[in-house]
Amino acid sequence: MSNCPNCGAPVDGDICPYCGTAHRLPTPMMAIGKVVPIRFEHGGTVFSFDLLVSGFEASDMGETCSFRDGFGLTVSTLHTPELHVSMSGTVIGARHEQVSA
Ligand SMILES: [Zn+2]
Repeated sequence: MSNCPNCGAPVDGDICPYCGTAHRLPTPMMAIGKVVPIRFEHGGTVFSFDLLVSGFEASDMGETCSFRDGFGLTVSTLHTPELHVSMSGTVIGARHEQVSA
């Protein structure tokens, strides 16, 4: 639960129910070995879980930047707009719910 940056009303989603201001919730900082809360909506269902992050990889046109437990390869020349990112980790306490309209 956060407060609308425009009118200060408590907001539980992405859009303030009082003034209609769209805003994003604070982005959790992710790091290897850290547990981060994830909510993913698709087709009216929200999947919620905590993710114990074990790997992160970003790649474009053959350049790869990755961080993983135990070993790591780092290339700092990612530059194209077509950037693909994947994360891996262990899901803890997965659950799902229907989105209320
Ligand atoms: Zn508002």
